[in-house]
Amino acid sequence: IPVDPFDLVIFGGTGDLARRKILPALFRRYCAGQIPSEARIVGAARAEYDDAGYRDFAAEAIREFAPGRTCEDGTLGQFLERLSYVTIDARGDTGWEDLASKLQPGRVRAFYFSVGPGLFGDLADRLHKWGVADADSRIVVEKPFGHDLASARALNHTLAAHFHESQIYRIDHYLGKETVQNLMAVRFGNMLFEPLWNAQYVDHIQITVAETVGVGGRGEYYDTAGAMRDMMQNHLMQLLCLIAMEPPARFEPDAVRDEKLKVIRALDEVLPHHIVRGQYDAAKGAEGDYPSYREAVGNPRSKTESYIALKTHVSNWRWAGTPFYLRTGKRLKARSSVISVMFKDTPHSIFGAEAGRHANVLTIRLQPNEGITLQVTIKEPGPGGMRLVDVPLDMTFAEALGPEGSDPPDAYERLIMDVIRGNQTLFMRGDEVEAAWAWTDPIIAGWVRRGEVPKPYDSGSVGPGDADLLIQRDGREWRGIV
Ligand code: NAD
Repeated sequence: IPVDPFDLVIFGGTGDLARRKILPALFRRYCAGQIPSEARIVGAARAEYDDAGYRDFAAEAIREFAPGRTCEDGTLGQFLERLSYVTIDARGDTGWEDLASKLQPGRVRAFYFSVGPGLFGDLADRLHKWGVADADSRIVVEKPFGHDLASARALNHTLAAHFHESQIYRIDHYLGKETVQNLMAVRFGNMLFEPLWNAQYVDHIQITVAETVGVGGRGEYYDTAGAMRDMMQNHLMQLLCLIAMEPPARFEPDAVRDEKLKVIRALDEVLPHHIVRGQYDAAKGAEGDYPSYREAVGNPRSKTESYIALKTHVSNWRWAGTPFYLRTGKRLKARSSVISVMFKDTPHSIFGAEAGRHANVLTIRLQPNEGITLQVTIKEPGPGGMRLVDVPLDMTFAEALGPEGSDPPDAYERLIMDVIRGNQTLFMRGDEVEAAWAWTDPIIAGWVRRGEVPKPYDSGSVGPGDADLLIQRDGREWRGIV
């Protein structure tokens, strides 16, 4: 179903995110017939392009990052006709009238702030000063949303000067992933799971977001952030919220976000011995040598973590006593984002000790191979007596729902269309972001106070050995990186 006609302005339209994600996502939605032909997409950045030059830039990005789509010849050309460009410096006063002249009255109007957060205030001010934004316009802001509670508050305050909360779309692209939305469908669309979804039946929950890449070209930013700010405070926290929240009364933005906020506010302070920080070492790889973290960021004494594992609790009636183990890191053995809901063993085995202990596990895979698997225990086939084995009940996205060989839509496709539809359910509200920082800040302050240095770990490993001990001390094992 096509969305309403819209004008979308991409500030930072020549940047890495626009090239790799935003433009390819828009093209895919165009191929899917969701973008009406009246829609206009305007790139806006400092670089000097004309419309034709920007269309060339977009075509190249789409060929590289949206390859293999079944989009007949000519469709790319039609899509590109929707694109134009204005040269604008967010801190300057030229180009704004030109931008205003490109926008059409009576359309949904959205402004994607795909620039550094230091420019958000300038953009918000000038959009109003030049009358480009109106009371129905939407703005999309990228991570990082602040560096700590104080800066996130300041940023919220800056945006609130010109935009109502209902106009602000704070992106966490993890929420746009098909499997993450499926997690809500599985929880709240089935009778099977919700009655068991609590401390009485769930032994513990694990969330792993492992990357094989290092800091790459983002070293300068990353060294001021680290895994806690770059991943834990936003992506892993959002996943934890969706796992732990109470059923919202309706699948509506504020009903969902109210419940997520309650989870964040119920999180225990994390004790220092429940956190392991790591930093990757240099390694030799098939394609050459990988630099260490410190070399990659050009800071030989950096104390910033590229890995973090921690244990926390959600202190409310549903989850009291159930540990949540969260870990994320760079340059690990495999690229893998997995949530595991580990159910308890049966209270008594009627099959005797030799049948072993078996517990159900619900595994939600965000990448690779998006899907949900329920591990159930059955009798081992054959005449060998009553021996038990664990088998997966598998709901792999591509097999179950997509046409053969298809991938699930990229998170940005879903999220940008939600902005146009005016649906904020999968976007973070200002108070959620602030609450997440309020939980994160004391942890980071503790490291600084104690002068803590992260533990080195081998690139291509599963992270520092101490992270294994963190969970093994409780008689449990990590899952998710194989
Ligand atoms: P980038 O440096 O590649 O691009 C920045 C863009 O902003 C360019 O188009 C540049 O011309 C424009 N720009 C810079 N200063 C400007 C000014 N004064 N006025 C107008 N335009 C200006 O950055 P990016 O990687 O595309 O990231 C953009 C935003 O998205 C950042 O906030 C970043 O943290 C966030 N983000 C990026 C990624 C990613 O994968 N690249 C992922 C998550 C979040």
